[in-house]
Amino acid sequence: MSQKKSNPNFKVPMRRCIGCMESKPKKDLIRIAYYEGELSLDPTGKAKGRGVYLCRDSAECAALAKKKNALQRNFKTNFPGETIEQIFKELMNE
Ligand SMILES: [Zn+2]
Repeated sequence: MSQKKSNPNFKVPMRRCIGCMESKPKKDLIRIAYYEGELSLDPTGKAKGRGVYLCRDSAECAALAKKKNALQRNFKTNFPGETIEQIFKELMNE
C-alpha cells in the first residue's frame, strides 16, 4: 500500500520581498510593475511587464528597498529620483 504524496502544485506561490529579502506568500506582498519605462504599483499583481515584490503594509521594507536602490537594481534601470519618490509615496498610502 502506498500513501499518496501531497500535491506539489498545491503549494502557495512564494515571492521574495526586495526590502527584507524574505520569501512570503504572494498574497502578503505587493507588486511593483515595470513596463515600457513606467513604474507602477500593481495591487492586483496582473499588470504587464516585469515585477518585484514588497511586503504589504510594511513601511520598513519600503524604506529598506528605497535605501538600497532595490528597484534600480532589479530592473537594471536608473530611475529619476522623483519616480522613485512617487512610487514609494503610493506604496505608503496603500
Ligand atoms: Zn519585506
